[in-house]
Amino acid sequence: MTLLSLAVPATAGELSFSSPIDCDLNGPCYIQQYVDHDPSKDASDFTCSGLSYDGHKGTDFALPTYDMIDSGVDVLASASGVVAGVRDGIDDVRYSPDRAAILKGRECGNGVVLRHPDGWETQYCHLRKSSVTVVRGQSVQVGDVLGQVGMSGRAEFPHVHLSVRHEGKVIDPFDPDGTIICGEAENDTLWTDQPPYRAGGIVRIGTSSAVPEFTDIRANTVAFPNTGSDALVIYAFLFGTQKGDVIHLSLQGPAEIVIERDITLERSQAQSFRAIGKKRGGEGWPEGEYTGTATLLRADKVIDSENLTLTLP
Ligand SMILES: [Zn+2]
Repeated sequence: MTLLSLAVPATAGELSFSSPIDCDLNGPCYIQQYVDHDPSKDASDFTCSGLSYDGHKGTDFALPTYDMIDSGVDVLASASGVVAGVRDGIDDVRYSPDRAAILKGRECGNGVVLRHPDGWETQYCHLRKSSVTVVRGQSVQVGDVLGQVGMSGRAEFPHVHLSVRHEGKVIDPFDPDGTIICGEAENDTLWTDQPPYRAGGIVRIGTSSAVPEFTDIRANTVAFPNTGSDALVIYAFLFGTQKGDVIHLSLQGPAEIVIERDITLERSQAQSFRAIGKKRGGEGWPEGEYTGTATLLRADKVIDSENLTLTLP
């Protein structure tokens, strides 16, 4: 009965994994970094693109802004297994080098390790303080809540870092056999439903009355403009941009285009933002509906685009 063997999936003997974050990875959430496949000091993700950093041993599933930590986004078990270790109690503070000593040996922050059959293990890092809901020795099913996404440990942005290991060896779930074919996703990944690959993009866009601080963009605390604002500004928060990318920003008022510009990015950056604005003349800004757009282009191709509308109070 050879027909029966055809029904065996290609990943027989391997586990399959589901997303560890209860959030849409086509936005608002996104994958910031993948496993590093480059043995040198440089870094390369599984498509030979730069969404990684040297020595990165997992995949980072990111929240767009800090306030979503407070809203509470669940971290989910990517596969069924038994809890092999937990840690909690570490503050959700954005990492800076002066915290390296405090965090030595606790770079993962608040985390959970799950042991799965046949030598597989998953580890979830940077969970929100006091959010871990499982205990050592507990059995969990795929999709069960382990805790919530935070920024504890060595994390510069809110995310859950997922490491997958087999017999102690790091495995990239997007490229389990470790053979990279540049620009192509593997057919034989470890995902039940493969998360989308976004080669950089727009995390979010917004408007304000002055060029905002990046801290406020990350925290989602940028003040909105009004008809009396000294200036009108539109900004785009970007991830995984490459040197030569172009960000097109525009803000259209009720009657006319207020501002519009193309900005060429001069270096590759994991996270950045760009803003354009215009100072107010004598009178206030007209009332009515404004439309903002941000479009990210790479080699003249649109790779991401976002819109907003607002009515100035
Ligand atoms: Zn990571």
